[in-house]
Amino acid sequence: MTIAPVLPTYNRAAVSFERGVGARAYTADGIEYLDFGAGVAVNSCGHAHPHLVQALSEQAAKIWHTSNIYQMPGQTKLAERLIAHSFADTVFFCNSGTEATELAIKMARKFHYVNGAPERVEIITFEGAFHGRTLAALAAGGQEKYLEGFGPKAAGFVQLPFGDHQALETAIGPNTAAIYIEPVQGEGGIRPVPHQCLRGLRALCDKHGILLMFDEIQCGIGRTGKLFAHEWAGITPDIMAVAKGIGGGFPLGAVLATENAAKGMVAGTHGSTFGGNPLATAVGNAVLDVVLGDGFLDNVLRQSINLKQKLERLKDQHPTIIEDIRGSGLMMGIKCKVANIALQKAALDEKLLIIGAGDNVVRLLPPLIVTDADVTEAVNKLERACVALEKAN
Ligand SMILES: *Cc1c(COP(=O)(O)O)cnc(C)c1O
Repeated sequence: MTIAPVLPTYNRAAVSFERGVGARAYTADGIEYLDFGAGVAVNSCGHAHPHLVQALSEQAAKIWHTSNIYQMPGQTKLAERLIAHSFADTVFFCNSGTEATELAIKMARKFHYVNGAPERVEIITFEGAFHGRTLAALAAGGQEKYLEGFGPKAAGFVQLPFGDHQALETAIGPNTAAIYIEPVQGEGGIRPVPHQCLRGLRALCDKHGILLMFDEIQCGIGRTGKLFAHEWAGITPDIMAVAKGIGGGFPLGAVLATENAAKGMVAGTHGSTFGGNPLATAVGNAVLDVVLGDGFLDNVLRQSINLKQKLERLKDQHPTIIEDIRGSGLMMGIKCKVANIALQKAALDEKLLIIGAGDNVVRLLPPLIVTDADVTEAVNKLERACVALEKAN
């Protein structure tokens, strides 16, 4: 037998980590890495945040899992807090981003169904999008490389070029249910949607009576310096998918919705065995304690400016390696002139963890607790990585 014991669907780097503290992760040999990937924007509060460790430990000693057939006070509390800090009137909890996408799609279709327009099933998405790996989420993402070989693509998805307003106007028809978009594209290469475009989408959805849905699975929960990225544009969606950072490393996802958008989702129409169980929501509540704490988002903004300035300087110093710096908050992309995996590898050699993305970009997604010293160190490591690449070329 030659197949790996774990299904070989990942290209893994030859390194593993035994423990972590803040923005640092350590191998079993005690080698320190600066973690500017945060497990793909998941470890929002850094590794082993004392408040999260305490919340998880205390809950673990009480009860881990009951079932959504019973009342769950921790889940209700987390929902109420998310509602108090967003556009939403109601929240569903699941375990991952792709499940959140799945429900967003179902909810949009059900909304039109109960409104007497069952033909409105089509979801409009955008080129470069990533919404998850279930069959419906893959159809929404529309990326051929992920769809190939997995049978017929789920019906009811229309994908448009990124930023083509004319295509959008003509694509909305009698079968359209919703527009689904990441306010800042993550996997697609850290491409922020201009605020004006988000406002335009809101107006378009209102005009046509369709729903606006945001995928804030990567850009939400403080990543851009606001709790949710769309807040920068001054508009709100009808439905929003959240995951990654909300669990701080514990698997947790959520769908936030207005009462109107959620009106078809009555008892029995959706569910999850694990979704929002006591352990998960204890951690989720602890993450919110931290992220909504005094000055937390101010630090995200401050470090964002700090990081961006230093990266711009790096770009000027290494024009054969770096083409462009882009992003929002602590969701920063370096568009490379060399292969992005080469820069990622050179950074790994310098003990800096960063993450590849589409459009030949590497992503910097540090935990939101990073300090001046962390940012300086990360950019110094990147600098050495650039020098190493220049020497090799
Ligand atoms: C990661 C991600 C997903 C999928 O989340 P999973 O938890 O891996 O299912 C969906 N959308 C966006 C924007 C993401 O970044």
